[in-house]
Amino acid sequence: MNKKERLVAAIEHGTVIDHIPTEKTYQVASLLGLFELKTPVTIGFNYPSKKVGCKGIIKVSDKFFTDDEISRLSVVAPNVILSIIRDYEVVEKKAVVTPEEIKGIVKCNNPKCITNNEPMATHFHVANGVLTCRYCEKEQDINKVELC
Ligand SMILES: [Zn+2]
Repeated sequence: MNKKERLVAAIEHGTVIDHIPTEKTYQVASLLGLFELKTPVTIGFNYPSKKVGCKGIIKVSDKFFTDDEISRLSVVAPNVILSIIRDYEVVEKKAVVTPEEIKGIVKCNNPKCITNNEPMATHFHVANGVLTCRYCEKEQDINKVELC
C-alpha cells in the first residue's frame, strides 16, 4: 500500500466503502443511513480512479454493515467494494450482492401504483437487472430507478 492509499484508508476499526461512482457518493451514504450515525464518518469524492473515472470513498469508524444493508447499494452502486478494517488492517472485502427482493428504497415508476398513492412501502422482485413491482407488476431497469 502506498502513502496515497493510506491517506484515505487509515481508520482503526470500521468500514471503507470504495469504488463509488463519484456522483453516487451522497446516495450511498444516505442508503446506508450514515447521516444518522454517531460515529465518525468521512465522505470524499472526485478521487481519480482507473475503474470508474472519478470515485467516491467513504470511511465509517466503528461501524460494520449487515449483508442486508449492503445489498441496498445494488440500486445505485453495484460495483462498490467494502473493506472491513480491524486494527488498521483490512480483514475482509465485501462486494454488493443484488437481493431478490427490494423493499422501500426505490419508487415504483407507475404513477397509478398503489404505492404512489397510499402511505406504504414499495416492494419489488428483482431478476436479471429488472425490478418488478409486487403490486402493479410494472417493470423497471435497476440502473434507472428513482429512490424514495
Ligand atoms: Zn407499482
